[in-house]
Amino acid sequence: MALENVKINALKGTIKYSGRTYVYISSNRKLKMESLSKFDGIVIDGKSIEFVRMVMRKIRGNNNPDLYLKPIFSMNGNAHADPLIAQLIDGKLSSFDQIPLVHDTTESINKLKNELKFINSISFEAQVISKLMGYMYTRSLKELEPIPYANSNTHYSFPFLAYNYEEQDEYQIFDLLQIAVDEGLMTAKYFDRVYLCTSCKSSHLSYREACNKCNSTNTNSFDIIHHFPCAYVGPITDFTNDLDDKLNCPKCSKALKHIGIDYDKPSVLHVCKNCNHRFQDFVVLAKCMSCRLDNPVEQLVSREVYSYTLTKKGEDIALRGYSSTPKDIEEIIGTVKFDTYRTVVKYEIERIRQTEGSSNIVAIHIVNAGQFYAKVGSNGQQAFLRDIVGEIRASIRSSDMITFHSSEMILITMNDIPNKIANRIVIDILNLLRKLIDTNFKDLSLEITGTAYQLNLESSSELQINDLINSFK
Ligand SMILES: [Zn+2]
Ligand SMILES: [Zn+2]
Ligand SMILES: [Zn+2]
Repeated sequence: MALENVKINALKGTIKYSGRTYVYISSNRKLKMESLSKFDGIVIDGKSIEFVRMVMRKIRGNNNPDLYLKPIFSMNGNAHADPLIAQLIDGKLSSFDQIPLVHDTTESINKLKNELKFINSISFEAQVISKLMGYMYTRSLKELEPIPYANSNTHYSFPFLAYNYEEQDEYQIFDLLQIAVDEGLMTAKYFDRVYLCTSCKSSHLSYREACNKCNSTNTNSFDIIHHFPCAYVGPITDFTNDLDDKLNCPKCSKALKHIGIDYDKPSVLHVCKNCNHRFQDFVVLAKCMSCRLDNPVEQLVSREVYSYTLTKKGEDIALRGYSSTPKDIEEIIGTVKFDTYRTVVKYEIERIRQTEGSSNIVAIHIVNAGQFYAKVGSNGQQAFLRDIVGEIRASIRSSDMITFHSSEMILITMNDIPNKIANRIVIDILNLLRKLIDTNFKDLSLEITGTAYQLNLESSSELQINDLINSFK
């Protein structure tokens, strides 16, 4: 056994094994998120479920792949009894001496992670999809199943995704997964249905029967008795007395004998203690325990819950990242999808083969995009990209196309002009964009470069687009 190779540094909270270093975190130790990324794996003390939840949210919800893809093992305690935590740890340990047993898992996750390419996505949705695909890829997971979870605002929790959304926004995960399905990254299979509050989309609902006049739940219900011999019909309270538990008819005074023989209970009468209304049909209300709205049940938002399976395309996305959803691009008027752009460039090469013309593909690279987006947030990012596209649009011909390769790389076509002129236009565009940012965003300055690449007839459109993009690296 290789057990003697585990070297523990109690002071630093690190464990070394076979050239790899794990860090131990517990509620008694100061948690420095930034320093966690450099370790090969994390061992978390599982005694406090609250602490583990907090840390898992910080790690799996982080935007740094060195954190959100980190192998995590829980040790001691009961944290893995939490259904969501159980899904998001990579193994359980009962002592540091067991680290050799999870070593292969750590190695495999980190090796698969190195195959992934990380890009900046245009929107929050695209970014979370990209992260999810990467997480599933590194864990060799093909299925994403909804977990019944009392702590979830939607009652079903999707591992990994749940920690990328604030609790009150969890319902948005259904829409996010639908984007992934529409894009062919996953397939969906019906699982169950949930009902959500019309106001806050929580499913923490308390269903009650209430008065159909004043909505009060403070009601009494009585059986209605039909006495066959005299045909009297009235609530059971008309038949009871204070002395014994016998039932006597108030009309004919006879004692009631057997249900079904001399009397029947044809229905129930409800009496509201709030407004004294007497009625036969309740309304059913669903009180939201999150925002307190009392929803009539027929108005609740019904959502289908699916389980998901990763497709081949989804795995490819994991490897190269997911930059934008079709909606992101749609919302930025004047742009086309990257696939469309690629097709257009392919045909342009065929066209200039005939016409011997000169056409260009142009890339505009926002060097400090990550820093920029982190500051302006996801809404600001959309507004910013719209402004940039508007500015570029105004500088090129309407027949030319604009696309996003990633949120930091914009590609343009400039057909039928000499490369020299195209490059001059690029310089003008860059100056305009710098000015735009200076006037609109006070303490942010944009690092931006760009170049026009003349299309040739020798290599494929695919290779030429790649050459252009790679010229910025
Ligand atoms: Zn009432
Ligand atoms: Zn009677
Ligand atoms: Zn609500």
